This record gives sequence, C-alpha cells and structure tokens, in this order.
Amino acid sequence: MAAVALGMPTLRSRTRGAPSTDGRPDTAALVDRFGRVARDLRISITEKCSLRCTYCMPAEGLPAIPREDLLTPTEIGRLVRLAVGTLGIRDVRFTGGEPLMRPDLAEIVRRSRAAAPGIPISMTTNAIGLDKRVHELVEAGLSRVNISLDSVDREDFARLTRRDRLPDVLAGVRAALTAGLAPVKLNAVLMPETLAGASDLLAWAVDHGCHLRFIEQMPLDADERWRREDLVAADRLLSVLGERFDLRAVGREDPSAPAEEWLVDGGPQTVGIIASVTRSFCGDCDRTRLTAEGTVRSCLFGNDETDLRALLRSGGDEQAVDEAVLAAWQGAMWAKPFAHGSDRDELADPQSFARTERSMGAIGG
Ligand code: SAM
Ligand code: SF4
Repeated sequence: MAAVALGMPTLRSRTRGAPSTDGRPDTAALVDRFGRVARDLRISITEKCSLRCTYCMPAEGLPAIPREDLLTPTEIGRLVRLAVGTLGIRDVRFTGGEPLMRPDLAEIVRRSRAAAPGIPISMTTNAIGLDKRVHELVEAGLSRVNISLDSVDREDFARLTRRDRLPDVLAGVRAALTAGLAPVKLNAVLMPETLAGASDLLAWAVDHGCHLRFIEQMPLDADERWRREDLVAADRLLSVLGERFDLRAVGREDPSAPAEEWLVDGGPQTVGIIASVTRSFCGDCDRTRLTAEGTVRSCLFGNDETDLRALLRSGGDEQAVDEAVLAAWQGAMWAKPFAHGSDRDELADPQSFARTERSMGAIGG
C-alpha cells in the first residue's frame, strides 16, 4: 500500500456538506478506503493555552479564534450524540490548546456525558488549574485525564514550556490522583534537552503511581524548528532509561494503541513509548478529530477539513441537519489518506515536504 506523499503544499480546504463517498460501503461507521474504522474521537475545544511548549506553540501563542467561531457546549454535545449514537465512536477525549482555558469546560463535559452515558470521556491537559476544578469535572462526568509533563526539573520545564509553572502542574497531577481519576497517564514529548532528565521523570511517575508515556516529537511545532536529525528516537530513550531501570518489552495493550509498553523493574508499572515518527502506526489508526471551530480532520497531518459547524448552524430541520452532519463526517473519513509520511527518508530534508498549515496546538493532539 503506498503512503500518501506530503510533497506538495495544499490549501486547507473547507468542505460544506458531504465529500465524495464513491465506493463507500453502506455502513454508519466511520470507515476509510484502507479498511480502518474510527472509534476514537478527539475534540479540540480551544486554541488558548497557559504554556508555550516549544514543540507546539509559538512564543506569542496562536492567533485567537473569535468566540463565536468556537463550538458551543450544546453543539459539542450534539456532535458527541451523533458520533457515539450513530457513528460507532467508543472513546471521546477533549484536547486543545489547553481544555482548562475554557471556563465552560464542565458544561461541555456535562453535555457530552448526557449525550453518551456509557463511554469514557477524558481530557488531555497540562493540568494547570486542575486542582481547583477537578471535582466539578468529575461530577460533570469526566472519566480520565492524560497529563502532559515533560520534566520534573523546574528549570528544564520552564525552558521547554517558556513558563515557570512546574509546581502548578504537579499540583494538578496530585489533584487528579486524589479525585480518583485513575489511571492518570502522563505524556512526555521526547526532546534532546530533556533526555537526561527522562529517568528522573520515570522515577517520579512510578513513585506517584502514574503511567508515563514518551512521545517522539512530530513536525507539528508552530515555529517549524523540527528537524529529523534532532529527533530523539525511541531506541535512544530506551538505552538511557535502561541505565537505571530494568525494562522488559510487553508489546501493545491493543493493536490500535499507539504506545509500546515496557515493564519497569519487574512491574507492575509500565512505561510506554509512542514512536510516532520512527515506527509509524498509521495502518492501525482509529482516530477522527474535530477542531475547536467544528471541522473534521481525518488525519493529524492532512490539511483537509470538513465543516460541520456550518451545517449545525444552517438553521434547517433538526433531523435533516443531523443527517447532513453524519454524511459529511462519514465522507471526510472515507477520504482519509493512508499515512502521514513523516517516517519517509526524504523528510530528512526539511524543504522536501509541506508542513500542515496548523500546528499541534491548533489541531489538538
Ligand atoms: N494542552 C494539552 C496538553 O498539553 O496536554 C492538550 C493539547 S496538546 C497539543 C496534546 C498533546 O500533544 C500533548 O501531550 C503534547 O505533549 C502533544 N504534542 C504537542 N506538540 C507535539 C509535537 N510536536 N509532537 C508530539 N507531540 C506533541
Ligand atoms: Fe499548550 Fe499543550 Fe501545546 Fe504545551 S502541548 S503549548 S500545554 S497546547
């Protein structure tokens, strides 16, 4: 199967209504042309953030999205109902930007929970301010959190995130643990400047009963500084961690899970590595994404976006609008490319591929 090349820049195309569904089987599920089925929904709810991680955001932050362009809690709840009730989504996760920057986050969770009582609803967050809001979020129906934490060294953390907020993040992690949001997963992006502290981070995670996963840096930074030759690959991390911990490979929890797992010092705790660049898992991808403005993205690395917000706000008959939204979403996923191609050799030359027009903070990781 040929990977789709990233060679030519494309304009972010916004599609109103349904993209072509030629050849699509008669199923409600979000199938694509390569036999994959999307069951995992990521919803970005804001572009705002309390940090400025160098691998994600520009120092000045992302351009503000006008408030009226953001999906409202009611619209998000409606999309979750359609996704879970009809399209076969089994997992909903809020992301951003930083979800905690939305004052109406609890309302978003509450409406989503009402729309989908039986499924996990989680959030990827930097945890700043979580200690003050965790109880209202749990009450609203939040099931779990993934917290981004790249270093437990205050100076390294401040350099990487351009903000001296490590104590606030650690307070957020502790609050998640005491509020019973277990298992608390920690995500760390592998960067050359934090590699030396990776073992301390793992020791901290093990001590606090958190599950840590390292993620290879993808070329989705707003500053466009990503270079293949600077990539800290999974193998290098394993040899650093191996100097302090006994690591035994236990494989993947399930085939579509991106993380490969290693048992730490005989267990029970494990550490995961998401080798998103060097061991591409596009063939098992089961994700569909909504941006904060209500467009569907079938792939992190594509530029195509299908506008559901325009349909939701078209003012038509409720059932007809629901049907149009479902058809547009199904069509967007049918058109999903096979692979993003960041594991291709020619990407060693940064000039040889077009970056996505939106960075990670704008798409939602
Ligand atoms: N602000 C929240 C947070 O940091 O958890 C949610 C949004 S953030 C964009 C989601 C995830 O994407 C985080 O775990 C972050 O570390 C990851 N991420 C951001 N930029 C990345 C990059 N260039 N490569 C790999 N992961 C990245
Ligand atoms: Fe903010 Fe998350 Fe991006 Fe860091 S990774 S800048 S916390 S959105």
